[in-house]
Amino acid sequence: TVRVRIAPSPTGNLHIGTARTAVFNWLFARHKGGQFILRIEDTDTERSRPEFTDNILAGLQWLGLSWDEGPYFQSQRFDLYRTTIQTLLDKGLAYRAYDTPAELDAMRAQQKAKGLAPRYDNRHRHLTPQQQAAYEAEGRSAVIRFRIDDDRTVRWHDLVHGPMTWQGSDLGGDMVIARASGGGQIGQPLYNLAVVADDVDMAITHVIRGEDHIANTAKQILLYEALGVPVPEFAHTPLILNPSGQKLSKRDGVTSISEFQNMGFTAAALANYMTLLGWSPPDGQEQFTLAEAAKQFSFDRVNRAGAKFDWDKLDWLNSQYLHATPPAQLVEALIPYWQEAGYAFDPDQDRPWLEALAALVGPSLTRLPDAVELSHFFFTETVDYSEAARQQLQQEGIDAILSAVYEALPTVSLDSIDAAKGLINQVTKAQGVKKGLMMRSLRAALMGDMQGPDLVESWFILHQRQFDRPRLAAALS
Ligand code: GLU
Repeated sequence: TVRVRIAPSPTGNLHIGTARTAVFNWLFARHKGGQFILRIEDTDTERSRPEFTDNILAGLQWLGLSWDEGPYFQSQRFDLYRTTIQTLLDKGLAYRAYDTPAELDAMRAQQKAKGLAPRYDNRHRHLTPQQQAAYEAEGRSAVIRFRIDDDRTVRWHDLVHGPMTWQGSDLGGDMVIARASGGGQIGQPLYNLAVVADDVDMAITHVIRGEDHIANTAKQILLYEALGVPVPEFAHTPLILNPSGQKLSKRDGVTSISEFQNMGFTAAALANYMTLLGWSPPDGQEQFTLAEAAKQFSFDRVNRAGAKFDWDKLDWLNSQYLHATPPAQLVEALIPYWQEAGYAFDPDQDRPWLEALAALVGPSLTRLPDAVELSHFFFTETVDYSEAARQQLQQEGIDAILSAVYEALPTVSLDSIDAAKGLINQVTKAQGVKKGLMMRSLRAALMGDMQGPDLVESWFILHQRQFDRPRLAAALS
């Protein structure tokens, strides 16, 4: 069975690039009926923080990227990495290197002076036991390096990029797989080693990750071969670019999933949008759920070119989702924003009313917080008049119309939109005025503006909180 994994490092909040990689892993796993595994790569003990782990787990959950196994934590798996390193040492494919930082600096300076790219020149690859003993006696510590022969050629068939070839000589020389340690110990295992040890141990069949890991893949394939274990398939997903075509970075502002969440994007819209960053379904649809995308997902349709981040498209998708959300569900999402804005209401008692309000403003929302501004007016007894409304209220005969409505209000039970319409018709007839004038007058008095959402629906909502009579009274005074 297919087994894939997402392996975030908890050195920051869940990043959109990591989340998008998680989406592709999840889609592939679901498409194949396989398993999606979560592994937290917290070997960098200085930069890893538990709150970042929490943020990553919460973000994946929020997006609906449920995992089947894990989370595993690399920090709890050092025994496996040390055993793996020992295997490589025993096979003579890894060795201790005793170079001091000063010696390595001098080596690189010489390479630079000759116009060469910096690399390790493998100088400690063939130390004699006597030389080793001498360095140990000096009290030097040793890193563990894995042999990467310059004349090795690494090839793999990438599921996105097709045939890939790397030359051993382009991989920077023998690679450090464990940090320095004295006394013949194995120091802290490093990224490439830990990833391979885990991917082998977790029986990962497909490694799906960002294009920035391509050089690591070449190194990791050499590790698989050295360990004598099957090499998984690899798929390198395109980078997410900012609108000017560079790799999206912190400088571009919003990059973490929790920030998108706080800005009022829905999980469904964001997941949908991230899927489109580098993939498109064969039927050309732009709006779909993750489950729908999983049915059609394949790497054939993953682009090689970077995917430009497009705010307008994300906004458009988000508005589509918000407009399609039933008011009973939308109101749940809006209540926290109304509360934060300090609007006075009781989330339980005022429920039907809040739901009607959600139904009214829903079609105008792009992001959830838009509802704050759009509904402000429904939470206050009084209203400020725009210039246009003021002029309307100064028109001849308007007082008679408004007082007729005002007087009639207590005599009817305004328990539906139709009842409100009936009242309007009744007063219009009795006063012998044109319907248009009636509507404009009511809009000016009740809403304080000549533009805005549907008048009768708005009135109905205002009436439920008994804000219509005070507003009519204010317009009359
Ligand atoms: N911890 C690595 C990252 O966050 C994982 C890369 C991989 O998937 O192997 O980039």
